[in-house]
Formats: sequence, C-alpha cells, structure tokens
Amino acid sequence: TAAIRPLIAGNWKMNGLKAQLAEFEAMLVGAPALAGRADLLICPPATLVLLFGQKLGIGSRGFALGAQDCHVNVSGAHTGDISAEMLADAGATAIIVGHSERRADHGETDATVRAKAEAAWRAGVSAIICVGETQDERDAGQTLDVVGRQLAGSLPDGCTAHNTVVAYEPVWAIGTGRTPTTADVEQVHRFIRDRLTERFNGEGAEIRILYGGSVKPSNAAELMAVPEVNGALVGGASLKAADFLAIAAGC
Ligand code: PEP
Repeated sequence: TAAIRPLIAGNWKMNGLKAQLAEFEAMLVGAPALAGRADLLICPPATLVLLFGQKLGIGSRGFALGAQDCHVNVSGAHTGDISAEMLADAGATAIIVGHSERRADHGETDATVRAKAEAAWRAGVSAIICVGETQDERDAGQTLDVVGRQLAGSLPDGCTAHNTVVAYEPVWAIGTGRTPTTADVEQVHRFIRDRLTERFNGEGAEIRILYGGSVKPSNAAELMAVPEVNGALVGGASLKAADFLAIAAGC
C-alpha cells in the first residue's frame, strides 16, 4: 500500500485569545515549505475557529482548522454547548472527540465519544478519536485491554480513512514531558492497526493513527519514524508556530 500521508494536529486546549492570530498566521507562512511532508491542522478553542478560518480561506495551503469537542445534537436547549454543525459552519473540517481531558473532566464514556464522532460525520467533518491508558492501567499491564475496549466502544461503524483519525495518547504522557519508549509506541500502534483492519478491512489499513503525549521538536522525528505512527497530536508544543512547524519538519 502507498505510504499514509502524515497529519500533524495541534490541540490548543483552553488557550488562546484573538492576539494569537499572529501565531496562527506565522504557521500559515511556514506551512507551504512543509506541504511535501504532512498535512497540518490546528484545533484552537471554539471562540477562535471563525477568526482563524477567515484568515485561512477555503481549502488553502495544506492547512486545516479543527475543534476540540462537540455536542451530539444539531441544535436545541443545551446551554453552553456547541454543535458539530456550528463548528463546521465556522470553518472546522475536523473535531477532536474523546480527549482524555474530556473523558476525565466531563465524564465522557466510550458511548458518548462514539456519538460525538457520529455527530462530526453528520456535520460533514472528520473525527479525531482519542484513546489511551492511564499510568495505573499501564502499571497493571492493562494497556492493550484498555485501548482495545476504547476502540471498540468509541469508534462508530463506518470509519474510513477520510472520516476518521485515531489518536493514541497515553494519559500519563500528556503534558508531563514523559513519553513511552519507541518500542512501546510501536506495540500499541500495531495493536490499533490490527483492530482497525479487523473491523474496517481495507479502510482500516489507511486510517491515520497519531501519537500524542509530550511531542516536541526534540523528540518528534524519533516518534514519527516508529512503524504505524502516521503523525502526531500535539498539545503544548502546538501553541508556538516555531515549535509546531519544527515538529512537522520531523516527519
Ligand atoms: C494533548 O493534550 O493532546 C497532548 C498531546 O498534549 P501535550 O502535547 O501537551 O502532551
């Protein structure tokens, strides 16, 4: 099969004001030089999607815009929530669902995450579905059990390489500066690939599997070279254009 084109996705979490438009613009300036290496995606807070989208323009420069969460419904009496349709309308073409911070802070279950992925598809955007074990689960030797259960429960039927990205993010590696060994990353990514091809056949062989958790310029090339790693989901290091572009250059 042809090589899978890497995706470097940035998750800004609850960071960013209008003033960070300059940082986003710096990313756009640097992006064309990386177009041969990877697709780039930034997921700012929902308040900035429209502003960044207007700067980006339509379908431009191998660079896309995403969001970090969505409600499962199209619209209605859900104060404070934002639908996938609203995010798509603002310019998002991808939505992260099931990030460990959503699972932990908002009690999102695999069933919730699956419904949110389906909501993203309904709105015509792709879902970046996150899975990953906690430190306790890894220590107990349950990593593959946990990831397998999350995959089975969080991925809807009908996943394709076009509508779905899977992000493996060990919870203990997020924002900690700690990363698994490349051997451990390879083991989990091969396991995810096997589950995807079992369930989605040829499409499963093409779905991008991102690694996330303390990716930074100094470790990106090593992590991106691991078999079955098809890019990165980057938190803290995606806030600065120089770091984000340097990570993409490591593909
Ligand atoms: C994330 O939250 O998706 C993430 C990978 O964070 P960080 O890169 O900061 O560890």
